[in-house]
Amino acid sequence: MSVPRAMAYAAERMRRRLAELPFLPTHAVIALFPGRVSIGPRGGDYSANREVLRRDCGRLREEHPAYRFLESGNAYPLPAVQAARLAGLGVIGVNGLLHTPEYGSSVTIGAVLTDMPLSDGVPLEEEDGYCPQCGECVRQCPTGALTYDGGTRTFEREKCLSHLRQKQGASLERPGYYGCDICQNVCPMNS
Ligand code: SF4
Ligand code: SF4
Repeated sequence: MSVPRAMAYAAERMRRRLAELPFLPTHAVIALFPGRVSIGPRGGDYSANREVLRRDCGRLREEHPAYRFLESGNAYPLPAVQAARLAGLGVIGVNGLLHTPEYGSSVTIGAVLTDMPLSDGVPLEEEDGYCPQCGECVRQCPTGALTYDGGTRTFEREKCLSHLRQKQGASLERPGYYGCDICQNVCPMNS
C-alpha cells in the first residue's frame, strides 16, 4: 500500500517548505477559483489566481499591519485539499479531490497564509452528498489507481497517470498531456 509513503513524502516536503517561509503561519484563508488547471484554457490559471491572492495580501497588510500575510499558490506548503475541507468548503470525494457544492471538483485552490488569529471553519458533512459515492471514478480509472471498498478509499499515486505525467515533466503549455482527469470527467457532480 503506497498511501503511507506518499504521506511521509508530503509531510517532509511541507516541513522543508515551511522552514523557507519568512514567518510561521498559524492560519490559512482558503480561496476557491472555478476551473481546473489541467484542462488548459478552459480551466484555472495558477498565475492569474496567484495575482488575485497577491492583491488580497496587499490589502490585508494595509488593513492589519500587525500581522503578516503570504499568498500560497501551487508552490507553497499547504495541503490544499485537506485545508479546504477543514475550512468547510467541500468534502473529499472517492477520487481524492475536493468536491464543492458550487463547482464539484472543477476547482483550483489557493490560500493566504497568516499569523493573524482567526476562528476555525466548520467542515461539511460527507452525508450531505457532495460525493454520492457512485464509484464511477473507480470503475473508469484506466490504471486502477483508485479503489473504494466498504467506505475506505485508497489512492495509489504511483499508478496515477496525472501524477506520472507531471513527474515526467509535462507542462501547462501542453494541456491534455498534463493531466489524465478521467476521474473528474466522469464524475456526475461535475456535469
Ligand atoms: S465519480 Fe462518483 S464516487 Fe467518484 S468522486 Fe464523483 S460522485 Fe464521488
Ligand atoms: S487522474 Fe486518471 S489515472 Fe489518476 S486517478 Fe484519476 S482516472 Fe486514475
